[in-house]
This record gives sequence, structure tokens and C-alpha cells, in this order.
Amino acid sequence: TQTLHIIGGGMAGSEAAWQAARAGLRVVIHEMRPQVGTFAHRTGDFAEMVCSNSFRSDDDEQNAVGLLHWEMREAGGLLMEMADRHRLPAGGALAVDRDAFSAGVTERLRKHPLIETQPGEISELPQDGHWIIATGPLTSGSLADAIRAETGTQALAFFDAIAPIVYSETIDMDVAWEQSRYDKGETEAEQRAYINCPMDRDQYEAFIDALLAADKTEFHEGETAGYFDGCLPIEVMAERGRETLRHGPMKPRGLTNAHDPDTKPYAVVQLRRDNALGTLYNIVGFQTKMRYGAQAEVFRMIPGLQDAKFARLGGIHRNTFLNSPTLLDDQMRLKSRPNVRFAGQITGVEGYVESAAMGLLAGRLAVAEMTGRPLPMVPSTTATGALVTHITGGAEAKTFQPMNVNFGLFPPVEGLKGGRKGREARYKAYTDRAKADWRAWLGATALDAA
Ligand code: FAD
Repeated sequence: TQTLHIIGGGMAGSEAAWQAARAGLRVVIHEMRPQVGTFAHRTGDFAEMVCSNSFRSDDDEQNAVGLLHWEMREAGGLLMEMADRHRLPAGGALAVDRDAFSAGVTERLRKHPLIETQPGEISELPQDGHWIIATGPLTSGSLADAIRAETGTQALAFFDAIAPIVYSETIDMDVAWEQSRYDKGETEAEQRAYINCPMDRDQYEAFIDALLAADKTEFHEGETAGYFDGCLPIEVMAERGRETLRHGPMKPRGLTNAHDPDTKPYAVVQLRRDNALGTLYNIVGFQTKMRYGAQAEVFRMIPGLQDAKFARLGGIHRNTFLNSPTLLDDQMRLKSRPNVRFAGQITGVEGYVESAAMGLLAGRLAVAEMTGRPLPMVPSTTATGALVTHITGGAEAKTFQPMNVNFGLFPPVEGLKGGRKGREARYKAYTDRAKADWRAWLGATALDAA
């Protein structure tokens, strides 16, 4: 029998391995942890959830991610089986006991007679054989370099930029005031969803100086390529010109200082309510790569935030992903090396569930190709199909950004009411159609050995 090699035993790699092995293929999983770690993973287990323990909504009639759950369950997905087994009470969301979940996935894969695990980091693009690369948002540096050498620098690296969050009780409301820009919002609560901190000219100039001087996390050359332009770190905006922030996130327009209505602020820092309780506010547009110590110091220069305490400081998340629309074919193969498939978050999907789904599909596509069984395209009316269609062709390559599954990716169902009113019926129609088409596709592919 032929062997399928999978690099990365995360969400996508684990599911791909399971799908291939249950169809009778021999599989080797190459996983670098625990020998080589990442900043987010803690264990050496497969399918580790690095942050939240939620697979999000489990509603398979009204929610696209819930539909993805359903499709994976129908396809005998291992990750959904383990998520269901280790489910925690969480209303309509599928929250799981993360340690039991990963341990369950790991045990099942390690025990499978057709699956072998080879510990260690892979640093080169494989020359021959059948491979799936599922190394995720934190793909190791050496492998990322090898991929970049093949695809070009612009086609790979990426960072998510996160704005800091402040405890609202530490904001000085004798200085700051509640108001949404131009008093927008229908309810009083909406109009008060923002807190504003005013700056005069001297304060603004001093703030810009501090931003420019602050200690920042430096990246290697080429690594910053691909910042969202609408999501630049504030210090990068300040570097582009001293006025840039005053015309961007710190613009004073549409705001009147409740404590001093006659003086127009020179600049305004806005904070937006970040939770229902109103205990947390994020500083709008203030994603940053300043070091933590520097952040607290610089942000406390903002009038009203002089005593601020931070629930979370800003940060830049590494998120390695391919420009899939240009690089991958509709079978998720690297066009320049068709023996290599990609799966998971590195293909430009976002989230545990989406990554697992792309692993499930890549595993099935590999089986079909290696066993010479015909496999029709997965219909773009299904959640899995909508996602893969988006990343491998539907999305605009120039502005390609990581994508969560959502009904906006589905081809419309004709003859249904639009707008809010028709939404429930519309989503139900999407999910009904998806389920029928997914079942038909699974039946047509009939890959399961057992
Ligand atoms: P991973 O699950 O990361 O798996 C990739 C695997 O490849 C890892 O085990 C890694 O060790 C291994 N690997 C990497 N390079 C090599 C190599 N060269 N050789 C061998 N093995 C290698 N998603 C959510 O849905 N909810 C969240 O709350 C959330 N929070 C996140 C927080 C952070 C800090 C990050 C980075 C991501 C977060 N994500 C979250 C996204 C989530 O991590 C991914 O969506 C999901 O884990 C991706 O699955 P994957 O299989 O593509 O990658």
C-alpha cells in the first residue's frame, strides 16, 4: 500500500489522518511537538486547542459553523466524535474539555494499526510521495522558509494585530465621557457604547513621540509583509506621519467633550464596550506590537487612562497562511508541486472547526487520488464546499484574508425573502440544501473501507 505523509498533528492533520486510515491507507504523522514547541501549545498531544475551548455554535439549522459540525459528524469525523464525547454544558455552543478531547484524539490515532507517528520537525518541502501539510498558524520557521522559497515571500507570512482591553472601572470618567461618534445608535445603550478620551495638541504630540520611541517587538525582514492595511499597528501608523492617527483612529470628528463642550479636542481616543456587562472596553484601532511594559506606560499617557488597568494588552498574533487562491488548485494541491496538499488554517481558513473540516476534506481527496477512485467536486452548497471553493478560487487573491465559515460564502437559494425577516427561513433553506448535497457527495465518494 501507498503511504500518506501528514506534517502537523493539529486540528487538520489529525482529522486528515483519521479519514485516510479509516479508508485503508497507511499514514505517517510527522509532529514536531513536544520536541519543538510553539508559543501557544502546551502539550505534545494531537489536536490541542490553544486558546478557547469552544467549537462555537452547534446549531446545524441556523448557523454555518454548526452545519460544519453536522457535515463532519456525517463523514465519521474523529474530532467531532471526541468533541461530542467530552462536551461541557455551554448552552447552544459546543464547548469541550480540552485535555480529555486532545487525549482522546491522540489515543485513537496512536492505537490505529495503519497510523504511525514520527516525532520531529520537518524543515523541507517534500520532494516525492503523497503529503499533506497541516502545520497551522504557527508553522515552524524553517518550514515556513521552505514554503516561502517555493511560493514567494508575499504569498505566506501574516500577523493578526490585537487591540488592548481596559477595565472600565479604572477609566477616569471625570476626564472621559460616553458618546458614540455623531451620536449614532438607536438605543441609549448603543449611544453610550463608546468612551472617549480627549487630547489637546501638546498631549497628542507627546503621545506620538512616546509611540515612536517605545520598545517594540521587532520582526525579521519580510515577515511583516501582509498586514491588513485597515489593521496596522498604531506605531506603524505613527511612523507614516505625525498626523496619520489624528486622521485615523484618533480623529475627533463627531464628538463633543461632555466636560468641556466649548473646546474642540485636538484628538480623541475611543474605547468600545467589549462585553455585555460593560466591564471591559477595547481601545479602538490600537492594535500594537509594542512590548507589554511599554504599552502600559504609553497608554497611561492618554487623559482618562492615567490609572488604567489592562485586562489584556495588545499583541500581534502570528498567523501563517498561504495565498491559496493563487497557489492551490481545487483539490487543495500546491499547483507547483501537486504531490503536496495543504490543509487547515495555513490554507486561509480561520478557527478550530474550519481547520478540522479542511483536514477532513484533504484526507478524503488524498484517498481518492491515491486509490484511483473517482471523486466529484464537493458541492459549494455545503459548508465544507463553500469554504474550499472560497479559498481555492472564490476569494479575491489580492486581498485574500483568513475566513470563518459563514452563509455569505454559499450560493444563494433562489426565491427567498431577503433581509432580517427572511433570515430564519433562508438559513434553514441553506442548511437543508447543504445536508442533502453533502449526503449525496459522501454517498458518491464511498471512501470508507469499513
Ligand atoms: P494546529 O492545530 O496549530 O496544528 C498544527 C500542528 O503542526 C501543530 O501541532 C504544530 O506543532 C505542528 N507543526 C508546525 N510546524 C511543524 C513542522 N515544521 N514539522 C512538524 N510539525 C509541525 N481558533 C479557534 O477556533 N478558537 C480560538 O480561540 C483560537 N485561538 C487561537 C489563539 C492563538 C494564539 C492561535 C495561534 C490560534 C488560535 N486559533 C483559534 C486558531 C486555531 O489555532 C487554529 O484554527 C487551529 O488550531 C488550526 O488548526 P491547524 O490544524 O491548522 O493547526
